[in-house]
Amino acid sequence: MTELIIEDILAKATAGETLADREIIHLLNLEGENDTEKLFSAARIARTKHFGNEIFMYAFIYFSTYCRNDCAFCLYRRSNQAAVKRYRKSIEDIIETAEQMAGSGVHLLDLTMGEDPYYFNNGHFDELLALVRAVKEKSDLPLMISPGVVSHDQLNSFKEIGVDWYALYQETHNRERYAQLRLGQDYDTRLNMKRYAHEIGMLAEEGLLSGVGESTEDLCNSLNVMRELSADQVRVMSFIPQVGTPLENFKTSPHLRELLIIAVMRLLFPDRLIPASLDVDGLAGLKQRLNAGANVVTSIIPPHQGFQGVSQSTLDVDEGGRSVDAILPVLNSCGLHPAQIDSYKTWVAQRRQLYSRQG
Ligand code: SF4
Repeated sequence: MTELIIEDILAKATAGETLADREIIHLLNLEGENDTEKLFSAARIARTKHFGNEIFMYAFIYFSTYCRNDCAFCLYRRSNQAAVKRYRKSIEDIIETAEQMAGSGVHLLDLTMGEDPYYFNNGHFDELLALVRAVKEKSDLPLMISPGVVSHDQLNSFKEIGVDWYALYQETHNRERYAQLRLGQDYDTRLNMKRYAHEIGMLAEEGLLSGVGESTEDLCNSLNVMRELSADQVRVMSFIPQVGTPLENFKTSPHLRELLIIAVMRLLFPDRLIPASLDVDGLAGLKQRLNAGANVVTSIIPPHQGFQGVSQSTLDVDEGGRSVDAILPVLNSCGLHPAQIDSYKTWVAQRRQLYSRQG
């Protein structure tokens, strides 16, 4: 077998050629500043080619932390009674926050919840639709909904009231590992919901966790599944062990792995959206994620309103470190700037055209 040379792989990727699995794995295994910087530099060039110096910014509105599921990695799992202060925000609080976030200059509102039994099991789904509709009307921004697995009819309803994106993370595409992480949840049902989102003309975000026991081959497989899904936004986040969960003492990987995955995603999916999440290392970790090729800043959360993040549920929130004002200097230091809102809306509309033509 011929020896792999990083420059050759990067040249191939930059030319738009499909990388073989062993080439992807070689990039994911890079170590040492010299080689990793070659990868990150190629990723930045790919980003610039498709997006210039523009970055998109997403507000994260985690409006209910109740959940009927028991994912092994998640702070908000059903059986974690002791360590979690749960809340279900009122429609008034959600609208107020949405308006505030829209005014701060974000490009999208990500409405996220656990699979809250109140909305799913007690006949209150119409209340959920009403609050999403109200947020849409008041903000006039593109919307992402992250409600967990819903029925086809429920996703149709979200689409009809103007939701653009459906975010639903598999976290791993190794079925055995999936069964250990997302306890009692069907792999194919979850994956197929993203296909269904495309069938009805919505955009789909797929995501994976790094540092949760996966092999580099698993990561390569995940990237291949993302390609097959034609996911419009692809995200990776480092696993943060959560208190009160079965993985509380799990030895996770260095966050360099997340940066390598971001960069490889950029090379494999140069025209897609790739988040730099504030939810792992807070504001201090933003620059390195942008320098790895990300083009969306996610998990912007308003301070002092009682909203939480996911994996670092409170990090930098009340200090204001998750605000647009806090991230602008970081963008600036990377030679980047926020896109105009019309630029984001155009990207979303053009991408959705792909699926309306299919349908
Ligand atoms: S990851 Fe989502 S579905 Fe799983 S327990 Fe946490 S909130 Fe619920």
